[in-house]
Amino acid sequence: MSGQDEAADRMALKAAQIEEAIGETLDEARRKVGRAAEEAGRGVEEAVGNARARVAEAAASVEGAFDETVERTRGFWRRSWIALVRWFDTSAQVAVDGPAADRVDWLRVIPFIGLHVACIGIFFTGVSWFALAVAAFLYAIRMFAITGFYHRYFSHRAFRTSRPMQFLFGLIGASSVQRGPLWWAAHHRHHHRHSDQPADLHSPVQHGFWKSHMGWFLTPRAFAIDRQAIPDLVKYPELEFLDRFDTFVPIALAVFLFWLGGVLETHAPGLGTSGPQLLFWGFFVSTVVLFHATVTINSLCHVWGKRRYQTRDQSRNNFWLALITFGEGWHNNHHHYPGSARQGFYWWEIDLTWYTLKAMSWVGLIWDLKPVPARIRDAAGVAARPR
Ligand SMILES: [Zn+2]
Ligand SMILES: [Zn+2]
Repeated sequence: MSGQDEAADRMALKAAQIEEAIGETLDEARRKVGRAAEEAGRGVEEAVGNARARVAEAAASVEGAFDETVERTRGFWRRSWIALVRWFDTSAQVAVDGPAADRVDWLRVIPFIGLHVACIGIFFTGVSWFALAVAAFLYAIRMFAITGFYHRYFSHRAFRTSRPMQFLFGLIGASSVQRGPLWWAAHHRHHHRHSDQPADLHSPVQHGFWKSHMGWFLTPRAFAIDRQAIPDLVKYPELEFLDRFDTFVPIALAVFLFWLGGVLETHAPGLGTSGPQLLFWGFFVSTVVLFHATVTINSLCHVWGKRRYQTRDQSRNNFWLALITFGEGWHNNHHHYPGSARQGFYWWEIDLTWYTLKAMSWVGLIWDLKPVPARIRDAAGVAARPR
């Protein structure tokens, strides 16, 4: 072989080796590019997937927030609407729970606030002896209906009477703007079961003066009637009516007084009265005074006075409150023995409601007045001192 051929062979060999090396490198590079592309593809897919999930999540949360806002707005309008319906029809139901159940239901209680504000009207209507007498008479007869019937009869069954008398005094009581007899009795029985315990809605010891005086029934929690507490009363549809449409009777009384005042202004000008004057004195002032006098028994009479009996609550006997509430101020006596028709247990404990009930029993309007057994009356003696 010539030297030239040898050199050509070596070059050919070299060329083949170089070609092979290039091939290998190319393959390697291809594989790397392939892997990189594959990885990049996966990364992109993952990124797209993640982005999609985040977008879906955000959309769902916006949708959820929107639904919640719609629901909340709907709930607000629904509650507001029902608060207004409840001015006239207490059967309108709305579920309120949690802390909201113990907050004042401002919309619903506007008429109650209006009742107080309206008293300013007397500065414009003037006053007459006749208007004052009507206001006093309505205070007295309605206070008696509340203490004698709402309390001692409907709540405690301390005597018996006929169905018409039961309705008549339920009707007079309903004109006091203290809801109907069923609501009143159910809540009062609840008070006796839980007196001055945390569950007692109007305990000044547990919840302070204002809540026990009026704050408690301005809340949604106190609105409904616990019908299980009054199985003996729910069977009377006429009482159910008074409770369901509990502003009907007060409005009728207000309209009547306005009309009466107008008639007297024309036909008996000597009385010096008028429609607005009788409306504002006879209805607004009389009702507001009657209301606050009644609820002193919840607020003051568990704080101010003497404790003859060591009852498990903080009830007190208070002469002054007994005077303005026609006997209810003997509240410690009453908690000691709630079933009695009399709350002044001794002759010197003035109890106007008891005298009136006694007189009604003499003419047969009511009967079976439950007395206080002497052994119960004298049980704790008079030694127990205020705690
Ligand atoms: Zn009490
Ligand atoms: Zn009672």
